[in-house]
Amino acid sequence: MGELYADVIVDITHEKLDRPFQYRVPERLKGKLEIGTCVTVPFGNGNKPLQGYVVGLGEVCKFDPGRLKSILDLPGKGVGVEERMVALAAWLRKNYGSTMIQALKTVLPAKRSVRGLEHRTLERLMTREEVLSLLGESQRKKQVAKARLLRELADQPCIPCEWVTGRLGVSAQTVKSLERAGVLRIVSREQLRNPVRIETAAESKKELSPAQRAAADAVLSDIDAGRPGTYLLHGITGSGKTEVYLEIIENVVRRGRQAVVLIPEIALTYQTLIRFYRRFGDRVSVMNSMLSPGEKYDQCQRAKQGGIDVIIGPRSALFTPFPNIGVIVMDEEHESSYKSESAPKYHARETALEVARLHGAAVVLGSATPSLEAYYRAEQGQYRLFTLKERLTGGELPKTEIVDMRRELKEGNRSIFSRRLQELLADRLAKGEQSILFLNRRGYAGFVSCRACGHVMKCPHCDVSLSEHRGGKLLCHYCGYSEPKPSLCPKCGSKYISGFRAGTQQIEERLKEMFPGVRCLRMDGDTTRTKDSYQQILSAFANREADVLIGTQMIVKGHDFPRVTLVGVLAADLSLSAGDYRAGERTFQLLTQAVGRAGRGTLPGEAVIQTYQPEHYAVVHAAAQDYEGFYREEILYREMMGYPPVSHMLAVQVFSGSEEGGAQLAKLLSHETAAGWGRDVCLIGPAPASIEKINDIFRFVFYVKSAEYDTLIKIKDEAERKLKEWQRPESVQFDFDPMNIL
Ligand code: ADP
Ligand code: ZN
Ligand code: ZN
Repeated sequence: MGELYADVIVDITHEKLDRPFQYRVPERLKGKLEIGTCVTVPFGNGNKPLQGYVVGLGEVCKFDPGRLKSILDLPGKGVGVEERMVALAAWLRKNYGSTMIQALKTVLPAKRSVRGLEHRTLERLMTREEVLSLLGESQRKKQVAKARLLRELADQPCIPCEWVTGRLGVSAQTVKSLERAGVLRIVSREQLRNPVRIETAAESKKELSPAQRAAADAVLSDIDAGRPGTYLLHGITGSGKTEVYLEIIENVVRRGRQAVVLIPEIALTYQTLIRFYRRFGDRVSVMNSMLSPGEKYDQCQRAKQGGIDVIIGPRSALFTPFPNIGVIVMDEEHESSYKSESAPKYHARETALEVARLHGAAVVLGSATPSLEAYYRAEQGQYRLFTLKERLTGGELPKTEIVDMRRELKEGNRSIFSRRLQELLADRLAKGEQSILFLNRRGYAGFVSCRACGHVMKCPHCDVSLSEHRGGKLLCHYCGYSEPKPSLCPKCGSKYISGFRAGTQQIEERLKEMFPGVRCLRMDGDTTRTKDSYQQILSAFANREADVLIGTQMIVKGHDFPRVTLVGVLAADLSLSAGDYRAGERTFQLLTQAVGRAGRGTLPGEAVIQTYQPEHYAVVHAAAQDYEGFYREEILYREMMGYPPVSHMLAVQVFSGSEEGGAQLAKLLSHETAAGWGRDVCLIGPAPASIEKINDIFRFVFYVKSAEYDTLIKIKDEAERKLKEWQRPESVQFDFDPMNIL
């Protein structure tokens, strides 16, 4: 056996993570090391033994082999916080593809680039009399500053440092000299910041309903029996899911363990936070993208030292270094923001399961519209399903109508508003009630459809929508299939075949033509560049400063407007044609949420869904708020086409400065790694990515489908090996079970 060398990181809390040191692997340790293994190595001039972690293994020595030191040993396996984090990083690297360094940077607490609020005080070590005599001496010597400090010290035995240097104008040197003389000592205590301060009155606990009780009890008794599982809580907004989380967490904390609560950043509202603070006081803390690195670091320290029991935050809160997590709650588990967009492109749901495995914790997923993944696994018996059916806050679900826009056209209405929606808008304006118009633009990628018959141009191989590209070409983003854009609809021969181009601005203009004097607010990417403008629009609408709120998908989440009694969905099928296999799922989620915006208060609500595909199951079931019905049809499609969650899919992206080089590498790589697996693996592409070029970097992508996730990991590993061997200038990224087309 040849020589083996290991790259070792000796101090994972150090800034220079990107500089591992190479060591020789002694014969007796060969075969015992893998990436992530904890090792003892001699370090520095004194060869001090230090603990480190293996981040790379290879047969090439990068330094003078004569001067290379050897790994000393493997320390006994502990389950310290640090070991667990490194194990988690190794798991991320393996399952999602990235370097070990990228994975470590993902899981480790933010570096302290900002110092914490260090609180230093001077403590008197002498008696008052002794200090007074020193004071007399320094007054005689005309040591003005020193005298000032001594007088102060004589009066109070403990002085905050910033006082001394600030108000008293005493230099650090003077303080030091008194410290050396044994007059005082400097005491430093870290004050860890809690970024949220809310004055709270303890909340009165609610008596759980029988359905809530059943869910909470099942989770808790499994934890107590030492076999914590994964649970899916399916219930519409207002059905009491959060109350169940609170009950479980309270009991977990009582048992001396900690809880992680994942919430999509957009849903991290004051209303949600306050409920946690009312329950857990300052034992709860929050993590979000607005925190400074120093504040994030402080959160981690507090978690590690047992200063908090509960952390709430987006997906990165999973990496809070708690000593003993008892439960991980993931609210709105279907949200696509749970998937990381940079390497390692991990999904918080799968990662939560791994964190839970490392801690022996339970995972509770909650959603009104569960992801196909979660519901499928619940059906397969891997997760336990609990359903909460009633809305506890009262308020009926809105009455929903689907309007066939093909018929509107046939009957001479060429406006973007159907006659029914115009009628209901007029009615609300007359009554002084508010309306929301939702333009479903999500995933809009230039698809082409017929306004006369609803026909959508699709790829014959992948059953996803084709998108219009330069020069009137229609292109499939999975397999690269293309055909010319037709001028007449291939199904009905109508000339109304084109892309949909209306934006929120046009909708506002049309609305003002139709109803002069109507007060509108518009919310989309353009009007909400800053976080403030977003809040301003929301509160203006809540204060009834407008009759109609027009917006894209950002208006359907989270906010309650009790006076809204009408929701109009324009172009429901835009997101149906997003060109990827999740289009139906996303449409169902968006439509369900949008429709649910109406009638949250005491007045009953109505909703109108305008579409060119009124018979599409995602539209039909969303209108009926029927998740089960939707799931049954959607899972059939996934099964038939071999898409996740029935099968798994790996996207491999190639980035290249040269169009030719990128295309060539994508072809070569796909051939060398995914071919030869026979029927276990299906290769799609390579093809140019949906955005073919950004900043002069060409992008290519190929997809590999397999029923076994492990097979895809093997393909990824093989690709990494080949890339190392070939030493190509292009870069490559992996995306397992991608959320979007690439
Ligand atoms: P979800 O998280 O599903 O949206 P919540 O837990 O926020 O639902 O509950 C919705 C509302 O109902 C909240 O105002 C909550 O305080 C109230 N609520 C929840 N459970 C109960 C209960 N068992 N008894 C009375 N009120 C409840
Ligand atoms: Zn047609
Ligand atoms: Zn295709």
